[in-house]
Amino acid sequence: MIAPGGTIGIMGGGQLGRMLAISAAQLGYRCHIYAPDRESVAAEVAAEFTCAAWSDAIALDTFAAACDVVTYEFENVPVAPLRPIEPKLAPHPRALETAQDRLKEKRFAEGLGGRAAPYAPVDSADDLARAVERIGAPGILKTRSDGYDGKGQWRIQSARDAAAIRLPGNPTIYEGQVRFSAEFSVILVRGQDGEIRFWASAQNEHKDGILDTSRLPASADITAQVDAARALAAKIADELGYIGVMTCEFFATDGGPVFNEMAPRVHNSGHWSIEGAATSQFENHIRAICGLPLGLTDTTAQAVEMRNLIGPEALDAHSLLAEADLHLHLYGKREAREGRKMGHVTRIFRDPPPA
Ligand code: AMP
Repeated sequence: MIAPGGTIGIMGGGQLGRMLAISAAQLGYRCHIYAPDRESVAAEVAAEFTCAAWSDAIALDTFAAACDVVTYEFENVPVAPLRPIEPKLAPHPRALETAQDRLKEKRFAEGLGGRAAPYAPVDSADDLARAVERIGAPGILKTRSDGYDGKGQWRIQSARDAAAIRLPGNPTIYEGQVRFSAEFSVILVRGQDGEIRFWASAQNEHKDGILDTSRLPASADITAQVDAARALAAKIADELGYIGVMTCEFFATDGGPVFNEMAPRVHNSGHWSIEGAATSQFENHIRAICGLPLGLTDTTAQAVEMRNLIGPEALDAHSLLAEADLHLHLYGKREAREGRKMGHVTRIFRDPPPA
């Protein structure tokens, strides 16, 4: 166990790291952020900051030596440079390796009995033509790694679209478009002793490939599929010997849950848990990696709505707070660029919704 007072290293300097550091501070820990960008909103609320490249072996070694445990808030941290500091890492970097490659991730989930969209690896124009012929269109071409928030994705409506596309230089995967009624995620925390707790699965809505809202309670088609999705997520976590918070995203379809992807970290669709659950995803991640008992994950409200503030809409805090029941979280990012996650708001409904 790492007792309060100890130092938690966090790789990545974004808003997830910032919210982890805030929870860690509440439990009496110090945080040390490691990130390559000077502008790191997590470092602003942490005790220490190492600004260095992911591949800087000396900086990584010094950082790890100063920490009792090292975790991540960003799943694209390159894995090879982490090898020498592996004993300090939680969760184990095999979770990063799996989540960093869409092909590996899908095969892994299928190997454990999960169902993914039909897919094929694509490394050339010929591969793509064959994939579209076999799987059909519409579909989505995605980079196998480094994509997030809809980046590195191209919608393909027809074989003609596929023939016209210029492939990016890196490996891709073609996925058939899933006909889903809703999207949801399973967020779980797994402790050092293997105990798993789940948060309620919110209904996620995306706009332009970016999460827009997460709402609870979710629709009936989601609630009917949550148990099957949880069973797969738990198998994934067990198989990886996972410690901490892990997220799996699913499509709710007529044939049951379809696995989309996993994130070896706290997740945007779990931000509602700060005000809406007995213990937030951030606090339970800190508890798990430090070997403390896990907190209850029960939802403490009748209904919850979390909405992301993207780009300039986050700038008018005064108007947002004019709605007195809104909880405002701003991440402290200086530039409100289009498409950038600047903050989020959560509304908690204590009473049952009117009939
Ligand atoms: P991803 O980066 O894979 O999470 O994709 C971002 C969003 O694009 C998802 O949340 C879905 O709304 C949509 N999407 C991704 N893959 C598929 C698919 N195979 N079929 C239908 N929609 C998809």
